[in-house]
Amino acid sequence: MAEGAPAPGCRVDLTGQVALVTGASRGIGRAIAIRLAACGATVAGIARTLPALEGTLQAIRDAGGTAEGWAANVANPADVQRVVDEVEAKFPKIHVLVNNAGLTRDGLMLRMEDAAWDEVIDTNLKGTFLFSRAVGAIMMRGRYGRIINISSVSGLMGNPGQANYSASKAGVIGFSRTIARELASRNITVNVVAPGFITTDMTDVLPDKIKAEVKERVPVRRLGAPEDIADLVCYLSGPGASYITGQVIAVDGGMTA
Ligand code: NAP
Repeated sequence: MAEGAPAPGCRVDLTGQVALVTGASRGIGRAIAIRLAACGATVAGIARTLPALEGTLQAIRDAGGTAEGWAANVANPADVQRVVDEVEAKFPKIHVLVNNAGLTRDGLMLRMEDAAWDEVIDTNLKGTFLFSRAVGAIMMRGRYGRIINISSVSGLMGNPGQANYSASKAGVIGFSRTIARELASRNITVNVVAPGFITTDMTDVLPDKIKAEVKERVPVRRLGAPEDIADLVCYLSGPGASYITGQVIAVDGGMTA
């Protein structure tokens, strides 16, 4: 594949675009970064450490794509501004922002420690706000942008043991619908992808019994793969999705149907 050229069969042409993806080291974020690069985007990948990003960056480069990594804690305002400034200095514009970084600290609400609440809200919700604010300013100047925020079916339905996580992911939805209205006149769309149960490190820790029970509850009778999410994110990142904004799209095998 020629450098920067869309992969054969890729229906979304992101040639010449820069995509910033948070949580690009593993799981869903890694699949999104690889997919956007395969469609021609230059990828700026974010995770807490650079070594964690190496695998993703190498996979993109091995396929002929372009990618750079930056270390940042998405919950830290100074980190976020520094990284966005550095990405902007390196590449002239940022066209696509995918707020994917997230974590869980599960436990029943009555026993939940303040720290578990704060860490999840700060990473999943505040991190999405911090990157959207910093990158949104660049997109406003460029009169173009695609922001895709990763929520969860837990933010739509609730899930026992995930009061902090569900609140953060429901918050991402309200936040996204609001900024979609604020940014629409500048040709910036904002959409939410709400995954169901996707096989990654985050869900690997669950006992097999729980995984089997979840599978029973999924109408398509399989757990999701990171690529199931990456496909939709890629479409929403492209020029063809210019009339879709403020939407929440579940990719969950029918769990919330
Ligand atoms: P994962 O495999 O655990 O990966 C999480 C990613 O987020 C890693 O790249 C991690 O990077 C990064 N990250 C976590 N905290 C960070 C922080 N403070 N600053 C910067 N990066 C941070 O999780 P996943 O399953 O791919 O989930 C990705 C997103 O999808 C999350 O928002 C998650 O809530 C959402 N989601 C997942 C599922 C599912 O079933 N897997 C379902 C619904 C929604 P490092 O650890 O390398 O720093």
